[in-house]
Formats: sequence, C-alpha cells, structure tokens
Amino acid sequence: MKTTKTIVIVGNGVAAWRVNAQLEKKFIDLNIIRIGSEDFAPKCSYRTTAINCLRGVQKGISNLGDLMYDSHLEFESFFESEAPDGVNVAHEWQFWDPEGQNAQKWQRRFGQWEEFNKIGQFNFTRKMHGVCSKAYIIEPKKLYQWHVDQFKNSQFMDDYVKEITLDGPSHIVKTQKGAQIKADAIVICTGYLAQNFSELVDDEKIADYLKRSKPVRGTYLGTEFDLGPQSFSYALESKHLIYRSSDKTLLIGSTSENDSAIQVPMEKEVNEIFEYVKSQFTHWDLPPRVDWPTHHGIRFKGAKRTPFWGKLSKGSYGVIGLYKNAFSFSFLAAKELCDVIYEDLAQDI
Ligand SMILES: Cc1cc2nc3c(=O)[nH]c(=O)nc-3n(C[C@H](O)[C@H](O)[C@H](O)COP(=O)(O)OP(=O)(O)OC[C@H]3O[C@@H](n4cnc5c(N)ncnc54)[C@H](O)[C@@H]3O)c2cc1C
Repeated sequence: MKTTKTIVIVGNGVAAWRVNAQLEKKFIDLNIIRIGSEDFAPKCSYRTTAINCLRGVQKGISNLGDLMYDSHLEFESFFESEAPDGVNVAHEWQFWDPEGQNAQKWQRRFGQWEEFNKIGQFNFTRKMHGVCSKAYIIEPKKLYQWHVDQFKNSQFMDDYVKEITLDGPSHIVKTQKGAQIKADAIVICTGYLAQNFSELVDDEKIADYLKRSKPVRGTYLGTEFDLGPQSFSYALESKHLIYRSSDKTLLIGSTSENDSAIQVPMEKEVNEIFEYVKSQFTHWDLPPRVDWPTHHGIRFKGAKRTPFWGKLSKGSYGVIGLYKNAFSFSFLAAKELCDVIYEDLAQDI
C-alpha cells in the first residue's frame, strides 16, 4: 500500500485495545485513532471481574464451546509470548454442596471432583465438592496501560462519536467535541452500545443478530486487602470470591440481569451474594460489607450467547457481543478481524 491509511476504532474497551494492537502488528504504516468516552459511555472493561478460565469447556462439543476454547488458547499464547502487565496466573476452584440441588449439574460438567473441608485459609461450614482449573485474573487498568505503552502509530481521543456517514469509499466520523475524521476503515468496538451503529450493517443476518443481542447489567464488590502473593478465584456454586494479588484486591460477585442497561448498581442482590459467600466459611476475617465499595458494568450478550466479529459493510467492521468471555474472545476476534481488514485494505477496499 502506497498511501498511509487511517483507521478509526470506535471504543476503548478490551475489544478496542486488542484490535488496535493487532492492527499495529499487521501494518507498518497506518494512522490509528481510537475514540472512547468515559463521560458518555463508561467502559465495561474497567467494571468487571475479568477472569479467563475454561471451567470444563472442551473442544468438539458445540460451536460456542470451540470458540471459547480457541480464544482461551489465543489468550494463553499472547500471555506467554508478550508477558503483559496486569495478568495474574491463578487457579479457580469450583465448589458445590454435594447435597445441594445443583450437585448433578456440576458433576455432569466436570466428571471428576475432590472433597474439601477447607480451602487456603478458609474453613468451610460443611463438606464441599470441588474442581480446580487454571485461571488468569486480570487487572484491566494495568493491562490497558501496557497496551498503550506498546502503541506506536496510534492516538486516543477522549470523545464520543455522534455520527458516521459515507463519503465515497471513506467514512466521515463526527464527534461530540466537533472533530471530523475521514477514515479508510472503521471498527465498531462499542460494547453494549453496538446497536447505535446498526445503520452501518448491510447484511440481513448480522442486522438480525444485532437486534437480538442484549445488554446484561452486573454488580460486584471490591476492597483492598492483602492475602499474599497468590491470586485465586473461589466459585461457590455461581458466586465468586476472587483475590487479585497484583493490586491486593478482593472481589465478590457478580449479579446478572438480562436485557438491562440500567446503570444503577443492584445493591440488594449483591448484598445477598456477600452474605452467601460469608456464610460458607466458619469464620470471616475479611472486611465488613461497609468496606466493600460497589462496582457496576454493562455486558453485551450476543444473540444465542455467541459473539460476532467481522465485516459490517464495505469499510466498516465490528467486534460485538463478547459477554462474559471478553478477556479471551477479544484476542481471537482481533487476530481474525485484522486479517480481514488487511486483505480489504490491500485491495484498496
Ligand atoms: C460484573 C461483571 C463481571 C464480568 N466478568 C467477566 C469475566 O470474568 N471475564 C470476562 O472475560 N468478562 C467478564 N465480564 C464482561 C466483560 O467485562 C465485558 O464483556 C467487556 O469488558 C466488554 O468489552 P468491550 O470492549 O466489548 O466493551 P466496553 O469495555 O464496554 O467498551 C466499550 C467502549 O465503547 C465506547 N463507546 C461506546 N459508544 C461510543 C461512541 N458513540 N463513541 C465513542 N465511544 C463509544 C465506550 O466509551 C467504551 O470505551 C464481566 C462484566 C461484568 C459487568
């Protein structure tokens, strides 16, 4: 390619960071502009428990399972080759009550398990069954800073895109603060706000997918607490107690409400999770509820729980519906999508 191309990434969450990183890897000469706005659209990627763990997912059972598996491997290969900041290597223990109503579900999922009376420094109030899996516990702000430090041909604009129009083969991106950018390609990485850009989609199937995708709000608690150098995640049925050693943070969560983009935290439900987690152990030397600030984010669940990445129309692309696997899906998504963008730009779109 002879002239320098401009690519605008709309969004500044994990999908956007990964697309930006892959674009820089694929193209030597590219002007990349990433736009996001914490004022108008707070990113879910800073309001998340951000764990990568396969939790018994195996290859060859379903298309979604295969995608989760392949994305997890892609993340692991990134982690091993690039040693980024903000990733804690850990284990997740999935526990369940052998007498509980979900026992059979967990037994079917994992096949094998062990008996536990205690885990780490915590003694259970009754015997539990559990399975240990490798996990990665991510500190999103550190992972973002690591990405920014790697970027060479990219700039970030703290702004909100209010309109995208066509101008011949280019797109004109107009922002709230008055910028107008002529882009050779645009990539929509706007999390639960992807539907704002549905006019870009010219494929009926993708338009239908976008229409059937839903926001899912979620609340969790976090507190600073030093439990040593080893990160962990204890999943008590479907409620988590997570320790992130890189910033000495404990998390408890999370709630989930389908089809809701309400930005108000789910206080009652998250208090119930706190009490449940506390009740599982014979003693509780961790901080009282009052010392755990509440955090709240909006996920975007793709139709059939499946993510989408690919072309929306000529010159526009998207990474959509990453839901609860964003910190692994985004790695495979960015790699595959940037191959498509590269091919298109090589033919001058
Ligand atoms: C409680 C909770 C727990 C979770 N736990 C996990 C977990 O354990 N593992 C996991 O992988 N995932 C988890 N998730 C999900 C994960 O955090 C999200 O799926 C992920 O952060 C979404 O990333 P994204 O880049 O697609 O969107 P976001 O991070 O939401 O980023 C969207 C970006 O788009 C920008 N934007 C939107 N509209 C515009 C516009 N018009 N102009 C400019 N910018 C715009 C926003 O400002 C933002 O920067 C959890 C989520 C929650 C809420």
